[in-house]
Amino acid sequence: MTAPDPSTLASRLRAGDRRALARAITLVESARHDHRPAAEALLAELLPHAGNSVRLGISGVPGVGKSTFIEAFGLHLIGRGHRVAVLAVDPSSQRTGGSILGDKTRMENLSRHEAAFIRPSPSGGTLGGVARRTREAMLVCEAAGFDAVLVETVGVGQSETAVADMVDLFMLLLLPGGGDELQGIKKGIVELADLIVVNKADGALESAARHAVAEYRHALALLRPPVSGWRVPVMSCSATEGRGIAEVWETVERYRAQLGASGAIAERRAGQARAWMWSEIQETLLEAFRAQPAVRADLAGIEVQVGDGRLAPAAAARRLLAEFLAARG
Ligand code: GDP
Repeated sequence: MTAPDPSTLASRLRAGDRRALARAITLVESARHDHRPAAEALLAELLPHAGNSVRLGISGVPGVGKSTFIEAFGLHLIGRGHRVAVLAVDPSSQRTGGSILGDKTRMENLSRHEAAFIRPSPSGGTLGGVARRTREAMLVCEAAGFDAVLVETVGVGQSETAVADMVDLFMLLLLPGGGDELQGIKKGIVELADLIVVNKADGALESAARHAVAEYRHALALLRPPVSGWRVPVMSCSATEGRGIAEVWETVERYRAQLGASGAIAERRAGQARAWMWSEIQETLLEAFRAQPAVRADLAGIEVQVGDGRLAPAAAARRLLAEFLAARG
């Protein structure tokens, strides 16, 4: 692909052209270095028009009902006049080549809607790289007029922290019954949640769901909430029956009203922007480090020596860094 002209792309995207939106996201997701200047020019044009959305992270283990929930929730939002973008962070696609989130046909009704835009996870690269591209895709969607951006992730790994760091509210979907370990939820993820929703509160699972809600309420009472001034609500819903979905959205609106007024959301976004800058610095430095010829020549050999225990890791790091810095003058 040749990089399209950023200004033309930006104005087409702002005018509601969906192909321009898809192309813009492909551009910011591109791992090609020669695409980066165009991607950055595009983002610079779009940035003044971004930021005007509610950014929601939605996480949960495979099978909890994320796609069913997002479909019901997204359609509910559209019914209330919103435009909904769904982005995914799915690091599994790098490790296995397959994707936990992307393999099946997901959110069919939502994806057909003209007020919705669904983008599967970019594949390849580090989690930091995937997170960067998702953040940028979020800005692109906002500039295209989507006022609700849902960032979905599988609740099993580190990507939750990355997602919690790019949204206004991080929502965790849970199954009825069973503690965190039983559900395969990694330690620490519950603590990231601003809102907990027990899904599948229907049929035979209804009483187990009630139980789970009570249990999580109790457990959360002992934790410090991620945002001060907000007690993390625990609710239940049935994504298949559409019950509790409106209440989840009402809670999100309450969160926005309450923490928007106190300045806590603006503060959270400011902190996220600063952290993003630092992770860009980190990624860029690391890239430059790895690409530096002297480092490249020595890296494999030194890694072997460190692995064998012949060279101490800290000494190896210092040596490589010294080579890097010397070569750069
Ligand atoms: P994901 O892997 O988290 O995206 O989960 P899916 O949305 O694909 O749902 C996994 C399974 O759970 C599917 O068979 C869904 O039909 C089912 N499911 C999702 N939501 C509900 C619900 O609210 N109640 C019940 N009983 N089943 C659900």
